[in-house]
Amino acid sequence: MSYIKLDKNKCKSCYLCMDVCPKGLIKKSDEIGKTGEFIVKFEDKENQCLGCSQCAIMCPEIAITEVYKE
Ligand code: SF4
Ligand code: SF4
Repeated sequence: MSYIKLDKNKCKSCYLCMDVCPKGLIKKSDEIGKTGEFIVKFEDKENQCLGCSQCAIMCPEIAITEVYKE
């Protein structure tokens, strides 16, 4: 099972990670971030995360820092 860790304080709501996730596991949250826009959240109820790191690689703020694979 893989998952990501998201640093809410670093997210600038650019949504690049949302676009790149092949499983659509990153969505807009209802929380406002530092840019005044909704930050993102990781939601993976069915353990679909591939641990592919695409989201982490894409994030310009390095807000997505860790991907675990077990
Ligand atoms: S590691 Fe891959 S599958 Fe998992 S959230 Fe990031 S982009 Fe999506
Ligand atoms: S790519 Fe990074 S900064 Fe942009 S929405 Fe995703 S977590 Fe936030």
